[in-house]
Amino acid sequence: MSASMLIEAFAEHRRRGFEESRQERHTSFNAPFRAHTDSSSGHGGRYSLMLRNRIYYGLKPFVPQFLRTAIRRKLAMRLRKQIGDVWPIMPGSERAPENWPGWPENKQFAFVLTHDVESKAGLARCRSLMELEHDLGFRSSFNFIPEGSYRVPAELRQELTANGFEVGIHDLKHDGHLFSSRRKFSRRAARINAYAREWGASGFRSGFMLRNLDWLHDLDVQYDASTFDTDPFEPQPQGRHTIFPFWVPNPDGDSIRSQQSAVNSSSKGYVELPYTLPQDFTLFVLLQEKTPEIWMRKLDWIAQHGGMALVDVHPDYLCFDNAIATPTEYPVGHYKSFLEYVSRHYGGVFWNTTPRKVAQFCARIASDVPSQE
Ligand SMILES: [Zn+2]
Repeated sequence: MSASMLIEAFAEHRRRGFEESRQERHTSFNAPFRAHTDSSSGHGGRYSLMLRNRIYYGLKPFVPQFLRTAIRRKLAMRLRKQIGDVWPIMPGSERAPENWPGWPENKQFAFVLTHDVESKAGLARCRSLMELEHDLGFRSSFNFIPEGSYRVPAELRQELTANGFEVGIHDLKHDGHLFSSRRKFSRRAARINAYAREWGASGFRSGFMLRNLDWLHDLDVQYDASTFDTDPFEPQPQGRHTIFPFWVPNPDGDSIRSQQSAVNSSSKGYVELPYTLPQDFTLFVLLQEKTPEIWMRKLDWIAQHGGMALVDVHPDYLCFDNAIATPTEYPVGHYKSFLEYVSRHYGGVFWNTTPRKVAQFCARIASDVPSQE
């Protein structure tokens, strides 16, 4: 296959994803806290998406990063002009679920910081990022790829947790093939569960935010964070249209539970934590924003409605100190000034905590609220 065909195939995949996201129309989402339906709907749609993803991620290693970023940037800029009514705010997603009891200690909103570590470059910046957040009084979670392009040093994991940060799991290999078949997913889930036990991790996020919430019951985790309220820039662009966490009950929960001698904390279901602020890569690398203004305005809106502000910041794209940013990096000052803004304007009224603690809080609500079935 020639280089130009590869590029065309690559661009086509992105274009199809973007076009589907444009068709995404607001639907009223105000389900009870325990109710869950997988909005990735029809099987036909899901299988054509799986096939497209299989082709796309098969070709991806052969298209250089700079070219992929250039194509994505061009398409993202074009898409942005068409989605003002659903991004960065999806109207209707601010409605709290039925039975929502509010945040602990009467806090007005939750503020959750998460990081996916994509490469060796990101791994090398984890400590600096941890120190920056620590100095400003914040805690976050760092999600590592167990079988990716780097090995996760046990000392780093221990240092993070000793300082009140959380360690989570980001995909298994981060190759885009995690959901390519049911059987493959089950095999990989067993390996993910082994890493979760070894690392003491209780949270998961998939690579490229690909997902199938029904299959995720195979994972022995308390929460997943692979969904979002609205993000038409992602390859699987269907949003959940809510700025609140929700419970995903396991349809076989009770039978699994009775078969197991040890009580598995995730056997009844898991908590889904959608990210509700745009990803840093989208804002600063694709759309080339020069300030964190979009984060601030969205956070104001989430705070006003008492939701959960959850962001995914990748150390891989952060340019620390006085280094010159590469085309896929942005100044760490954007992130820092966003955190300072939150402290300055909302000190004392938000719950900054790790996603694990949000999940524990939500699991308690789910067990208090009667099932909707
Ligand atoms: Zn990733």
